[in-house]
Amino acid sequence: MILAVSSLKPPYPRYRGRFAPSPTGPLHAGSLASALGSWLDARSNQGSWLVRIEDLDVPRCIAGMDQRILAQLQACGLFWDGEVIWQSHQSKAYQSALETLYSDRQIYPCRCSRQQITSALSSQGKLRARNQEQVYPGTCRNGHVWQVQLPNNPSGSAWRLALKPEQQICFTDAEFGPQEQNLNGDVGDFVLRRADDVVAYQLAVVVDDTQQGITHIVRGADLLSNTARQIYLQRVLGYPTPHYRHLPLVLDPHGEKLSKQTQAIEINTASDAAVLQALQAAALHLGLSGLDGGQGQTIAAWLLEATHAWAARTKECSPTQN
Ligand SMILES: [Zn+2]
Repeated sequence: MILAVSSLKPPYPRYRGRFAPSPTGPLHAGSLASALGSWLDARSNQGSWLVRIEDLDVPRCIAGMDQRILAQLQACGLFWDGEVIWQSHQSKAYQSALETLYSDRQIYPCRCSRQQITSALSSQGKLRARNQEQVYPGTCRNGHVWQVQLPNNPSGSAWRLALKPEQQICFTDAEFGPQEQNLNGDVGDFVLRRADDVVAYQLAVVVDDTQQGITHIVRGADLLSNTARQIYLQRVLGYPTPHYRHLPLVLDPHGEKLSKQTQAIEINTASDAAVLQALQAAALHLGLSGLDGGQGQTIAAWLLEATHAWAARTKECSPTQN
């Protein structure tokens, strides 16, 4: 008799996925699709699914919205494993990562204003169009007098990561295939802690994913362009790199990403029938056709059917991970 030897191949016995909403508004069709996609990917791999509340950007967060999102997930039958974590409780972990980077001389303080960066770039003929990300010209890279320990934020500086030369980051996205980005040419030394002392998303997400033992990140395609920066940070901090799958975004009739900022409508969880309708729409968006629309079905039964459909879909279209 051959015993199961599946421990190194999918389904991943130690698969740990996550959903990481910001409490800036309730779940809408777009965020529900991300939640459902990551939940289905975890469940179809017999994995765990964790929830993290990304509440670092305090001015944009709405009081009580975290609890509302958690209640919406539960109403949709998307139950999570373990304790929910809040980024606002993680400051020690972020500080420790910054200290590690500082002792390796990989971050430096920068007090350049937006205007100073623009004029430095323009004098070098490197200013990009307004809607494009500007590449930091490295003005403050060599001015820092190194100390034994990371100094307290000196006079409202941002802290930037000093990129090593020629950082061409390549990875394979399970949905979008092979990706590459030249961080030096496309991004430049990016900020890890803002001048107002808020830890940047790129650092927080990498520290949290590692601390939570996340092996698979399934999230919206708007974050695809952030992934190379996060992989670079994982490498310099000695963290493992998880697998990535970016889900197609739900767009509004103008072709814009549905977001809380564009007043996307809150999903209706008033009845099981309404929840099934919202789940069915999210599943269709994720490319799961042929699911029973849920007439007379329980939410749990629908989710089980969707889990099987997801397993079949990802088996078909998954490129090999590198
Ligand atoms: Zn600077």
